[in-house]
Amino acid sequence: MRDSEFFGHVTALAPGKVNLSLRVGPLRDDGYHDVATLYFAVSLYEEVTAAPRDDGAITVSLSHRSAFTSVDHKDPQSGRTLTAEVPLDSNNIAYRAAELLRQTLQQRQASVLSFPANSSEVSSSEAPGPSGGVDLTITKNVPIAGGMGGGSADAAAALLACSALWEAGLTKDQLAELGANLGADVPFSILGGAAVGQGAGEELSPLLTRGELHLVLVPASVGLSTPQVYQTLDTLRAEASITAEVPELDADLVRAVCTSDTAQIAALMGNELQAAAVHLTPDLEDMMDAGMAEGALQGIVSGSGPTVMFLVHDAAAAVQLATRLEESTGVWAIPVTGPASGARLL
Ligand code: ATP
Repeated sequence: MRDSEFFGHVTALAPGKVNLSLRVGPLRDDGYHDVATLYFAVSLYEEVTAAPRDDGAITVSLSHRSAFTSVDHKDPQSGRTLTAEVPLDSNNIAYRAAELLRQTLQQRQASVLSFPANSSEVSSSEAPGPSGGVDLTITKNVPIAGGMGGGSADAAAALLACSALWEAGLTKDQLAELGANLGADVPFSILGGAAVGQGAGEELSPLLTRGELHLVLVPASVGLSTPQVYQTLDTLRAEASITAEVPELDADLVRAVCTSDTAQIAALMGNELQAAAVHLTPDLEDMMDAGMAEGALQGIVSGSGPTVMFLVHDAAAAVQLATRLEESTGVWAIPVTGPASGARLL
């Protein structure tokens, strides 16, 4: 038994991600875009603690250890900068994860109890359906609205922690399938490592990798809304009469990630959302230039941005680049490694 279980609560970690490649197809009827992406989990983890409560309520709070608690956004209409707190109600994706899991377990219990395969063998204790609530405490270490799937990692960690708390007996694959209903990046945060993502990003093909990559992440002070970045890409493409093609990943890049061939990854990594993110936050271009001038092998925007990621040769180069960037630009730069493992219980 884990210490945490003895004390009645369970803590789970789930990693943030970068996209070493992100190709974006045309807008689909359901409002999403088809993508072909190379997900890469990094050693920056969200932490979610789930503690039982008797009254059936689900609550969310942020731990004082959080590196991020709110995010500034530029209002597209007025151009003004607005500060948004992480929602602590049913709009929080971790809340929705706990609610979805509880509902799923209750439905499973109801169906087992009404249609027992063999009534003499099935008891309610074999098909537990939680009736209690849960207090979720999130420690945010992944930038908010930063294009690194921080909210998705919270959902992944909440699913894992609540699943253990409620003794759901679900596998990681089952949790990942459930997580796809919450967001396209949730399954990847559960599974971790490196994977090709297709569909809206939720159809995963895990990659077998050897070796490690070293990256430096630079969170921006003003967040970007993922839907707004995709809309901007559509507008930029329409203005330039560019027709989006069925997205496909470069097979050489996929091979290079499997063997941690840093030089080849630096040559082939890229992000089709970058132009839109830079259009909305022009300073990102200067940040990428600054990193390259300080010796990065490559620098691109992560996902929908505005976090910028730099690829470097090794751990020493990562620390050196982070220090130099902090000195020259005053930003906070975070050295990380990957592929990081997926969501796990502490
Ligand atoms: P992605 O890369 O998956 O598109 P992101 O990392 O850019 O996402 P998130 O930090 O996941 O962005 O969250 C984006 C928005 O979602 C926030 O601005 C906030 O309004 C809302 N949100 C809901 N739940 C959470 C959560 N647990 N943490 C952070 N933001 C949340």
